[in-house]
Amino acid sequence: SRTPFIAGNWKMHKTVEEAEEFIQGLLPRVYAADAVDVGICVPYTALTPMVDSTRGSRVGVYAQNMHWADQGAYTGEVSAPMLTELEVTGVVLGHSERRQYFGETDEALQKKVPVALAAGLTTILCVGETEDERERGDTERKLRHQILEGLEKVPLDRLGEVVIAYEPIWAIGTGLTATPQQAQDACAFCRALVAHFSKDAAEKVRVLYGGSVKPDNAKELLALADVDGALVGGASLDPDSLGDIVDAA
Ligand code: 13P
Repeated sequence: SRTPFIAGNWKMHKTVEEAEEFIQGLLPRVYAADAVDVGICVPYTALTPMVDSTRGSRVGVYAQNMHWADQGAYTGEVSAPMLTELEVTGVVLGHSERRQYFGETDEALQKKVPVALAAGLTTILCVGETEDERERGDTERKLRHQILEGLEKVPLDRLGEVVIAYEPIWAIGTGLTATPQQAQDACAFCRALVAHFSKDAAEKVRVLYGGSVKPDNAKELLALADVDGALVGGASLDPDSLGDIVDAA
């Protein structure tokens, strides 16, 4: 059975000072949650302070992007060895905001995912459809494309370690959550796509739901058969609301 995973994605929020204040609030809240994996996905500038402040706790620290090359002439980018040197737990790849505003492509993700896994980083691959795509009935086609392309170069023996975050773009930051049926159907579909490569990996892969997850809707979403956790944006900025979501898992 799969260990539930609650990850908070801060996006471009929190200075180091604000991050320190947050983590002092979160640690006592998650101290006893030993059956749940907890992660915070923080700006690069807060990685080292958060790795230091979470040492010995069950909170993992994640970056929000990564380049596929180990080094090179890629101004502004950060590589897997740079993250592992800081003892970062993992990385979020392909968030819809990276795809939408920064030109992240499935082709780039196909290179990034195996590199992150090979470096020992827990890799969260984000996928999800726009409102238009859902209305046109293109949700499954979009997910198929993103997952089959993103995971294509992952060695089969590592595939089960991947975490997939299904985040319908129309539910991100809108207060509009997918219905339990929509979340279950899409997350089950994501898992079935992994089975296309390996049935064994599909059983192991954790699929998170993301999009306006809050303390008051978390329980219902986290109870769904194919939802193994949540990727939380806005509600993860407050340690008590993230703590409440961890409690719901
Ligand atoms: P919200 O929880 O703010 O809708 O954001 C979801 C998200 O994008 C997490 O990565």
